[in-house]
Amino acid sequence: DQAREAYRPVFIISDTVDDAEEWDYSLQARLESALSQDRISIKLQPQADLRTGQIIGAEALARWVDEERGEIPPARFILQCERVGRLDELTKRILMKSLSAAETLRQAGHTPRISVNVSAIQFVDTRIAELIERCLAVRPADPSRLTIELTETARIEDFSSARSVIEEIKALGVSFSMDDFGVASANLEAMFELPFDEIKIDQLFVQRIHSSPMARAIVANVSRLARETGLTSVAEGIEDQQTFTALREMGVDIGQGYHIARPIVLSELEKTLSLQKDAIAPFENRG
Ligand code: C2E
Ligand code: MG
Ligand code: MG
Ligand code: MG
Repeated sequence: DQAREAYRPVFIISDTVDDAEEWDYSLQARLESALSQDRISIKLQPQADLRTGQIIGAEALARWVDEERGEIPPARFILQCERVGRLDELTKRILMKSLSAAETLRQAGHTPRISVNVSAIQFVDTRIAELIERCLAVRPADPSRLTIELTETARIEDFSSARSVIEEIKALGVSFSMDDFGVASANLEAMFELPFDEIKIDQLFVQRIHSSPMARAIVANVSRLARETGLTSVAEGIEDQQTFTALREMGVDIGQGYHIARPIVLSELEKTLSLQKDAIAPFENRG
């Protein structure tokens, strides 16, 4: 009963959610053991330079496959982690795995940039800067190849304290990206207030550039805004060649999506990067 009390979700909507609560309780116990046994893994989704088509980096995405329930979507267990105060623990594990992956790739002769997601809510009352610094100390990696994708920036209420945390992390040499740009969870105000290096245009807009003149204009102008202010632009959710080409013509710097590659395991990413290197080498050697 005591354990039960500790796991009680923070947001109880009404008395009618008894079942949901029960379900959450059971899921929470499973999540807790997955965390403590380090069974939450990452997949890496390649990112391409849209001008050259080369894979230049990857985003680390959390994956949890429960023996009984199968794959649980990250949106689901991340919310659960937040509810019970385990988001920092999850971030630490994902960050450590991402830095290990970067080191494995470096030893194989590859130095892609690696992006890791961190929720803006973690900037409010936690020591996220210290956490990132400690991970970099335990798993040394070139910090200039690490990007933190800040999700849910709309939840930041105190911009000045968030800004100082971001600056503290940037002082380590790490870059910052504003994730899901354009949707409600990531508003324009944060763009003025926080020192981002990169804008990641949400797939909601990317996937509509051929059906909605509005979406097309938004993407083209965000790309221009990024260029004029010295930020990197990234488009997520590219699902076909037509979209890939249109984004390149709009001057978007980097692209990510199923058309380029799905999220893959580290060994597959290593293979992809090696094949790419072999394909480029003959040209480089023609001097
Ligand atoms: P996100 O950061 O915007 O990540 C992109 C999501 O879009 C991923 O979903 C990815 O699998 C999916 N995606 C990529 N390319 C395509 C495409 O071409 N078409 C479509 N329809 N989808 C595509 P995923 O892995 O389910 O992650 C969902 C969200 O969960 C992420 O959105 C991110 O906000 C969050 N998340 C994932 N891993 C972590 C983590 O380690 N920490 C935190 N705080 N959040 C994470
Ligand atoms: Mg992301
Ligand atoms: Mg995103
Ligand atoms: Mg998104």
